[in-house]
Amino acid sequence: MSKESSPLKEASWGPYPRIIPRSEHSLSRKDVWPEALKVIRRLSKFGYTAYLVGGGVRDLLLGRKPKDFDVATDATPEEVRKLFNNSRIIGRRFRLVHVYFKGGRIVEVSTFRRAPEPHEVESAEDPRMINNFYGSPHQDVMRRDFTINALFYNPGDFTVIDYVGGWDDLRRRVIRSIGDPRVRFAEDPVRMTRAIEFASRLGFSLYPRVAEAIREEGWRISQASPERLREEVLGILLSGASGRSVKLMAELGLLYHLFPHASEAILPHLQEVVTLLVRADGSLNRGMPYAPAQFLSLLLLPRIKAAKPFGARVTLGEVMEEIFMVTQSLREDLPLPVHLLHTIRELLLGLWRVVRGPRSRGAKRFRGGDYFKATLDLFKVDTLAFRDDKPLLEPWLEEVGRRRKLPYRNRPRRR
Ligand code: ATP
Ligand code: MG
Repeated sequence: MSKESSPLKEASWGPYPRIIPRSEHSLSRKDVWPEALKVIRRLSKFGYTAYLVGGGVRDLLLGRKPKDFDVATDATPEEVRKLFNNSRIIGRRFRLVHVYFKGGRIVEVSTFRRAPEPHEVESAEDPRMINNFYGSPHQDVMRRDFTINALFYNPGDFTVIDYVGGWDDLRRRVIRSIGDPRVRFAEDPVRMTRAIEFASRLGFSLYPRVAEAIREEGWRISQASPERLREEVLGILLSGASGRSVKLMAELGLLYHLFPHASEAILPHLQEVVTLLVRADGSLNRGMPYAPAQFLSLLLLPRIKAAKPFGARVTLGEVMEEIFMVTQSLREDLPLPVHLLHTIRELLLGLWRVVRGPRSRGAKRFRGGDYFKATLDLFKVDTLAFRDDKPLLEPWLEEVGRRRKLPYRNRPRRR
């Protein structure tokens, strides 16, 4: 790949920091939340340095809509807290301040940090404190994960400030670690899944050394806390690029380490799983409460259908047993809350019911149950991804259509 092999030296490496003036970038202050600008303005007014940083800057420079905006400053969390009534210090691993605004927006303010010296790590009484040594903007950047996530925007003079080559990497569309990726992934293995999610979501390539480091250090992913991994996996599945992410994780061997048990059900059917996820990325509503369960079901569906082909003479008991076994393997890999596990099982079983048809046993109750709509949406993802099973779907859709006409309150009570 020519993009990847272009030697770094070719890029314009000026002395750092490199200041990109307003005339050379497309980031407009109009696109930044007024709340974030307000926070920066107030910090500046009291003599502190404050910049916009992270995904907000990255996404605006790419012409994408950011999820939220983060502010970095040289004020300590306590100092920030004092300046904003509507704020709270949060976090143990990283102490941050959340500033709350009317309408529900939250601006996250972090203090510039630095990496601790080795002697400070050894002598730290509380190991959590090693993440909370404060430093300069330059030091702060060096602790961040990827160059494209490490650009500052200074709304005071409209400049973008780049200490690590993030500006060039944005234009070359590559995910590059700050420093040696093997070291950075050993420090925090979750950076590996983040690299994959960013590459998939933004359509960027992984810098070759980053890809290599994931292959080599992937086993470390199990060192991250299970809760953090669960959040990461759900984040990836709901990123809008779950298909590409899962494919890339499989290629780099990370999927196996992330799902030591469930990968046995996923990897043999990878192509089908990826096709389903790509389809789901484009069609499922990722904001709905059942979306996490829907995406997790898709990881397992091809295996379940391969073992117990729906529609053939497979009994409820047989399907349930298979579903139970496969979802159990997922549960061994991730701490899934009971309700989520339950929903996944209901959805998978619902897919079997859809194939059995609206006249089969239990269909009536299924139709009136909580998972009906979510199951049909999932069924559409499945059938449209592989073949045209509309005839199977139609009788159910008629049902939905008929139901929609009923005023909500007059829905017949279930006996
Ligand atoms: P998103 O669009 O997903 O919010 P983001 O880049 O804003 O992407 P966040 O998780 O919101 O990601 O983190 C904000 C910033 O904090 C990142 O841009 C990065 O600079 C830094 N960061 C987050 N997680 C890590 C990590 N594990 N290691 C180093 N830096 C990190
Ligand atoms: Mg963010």
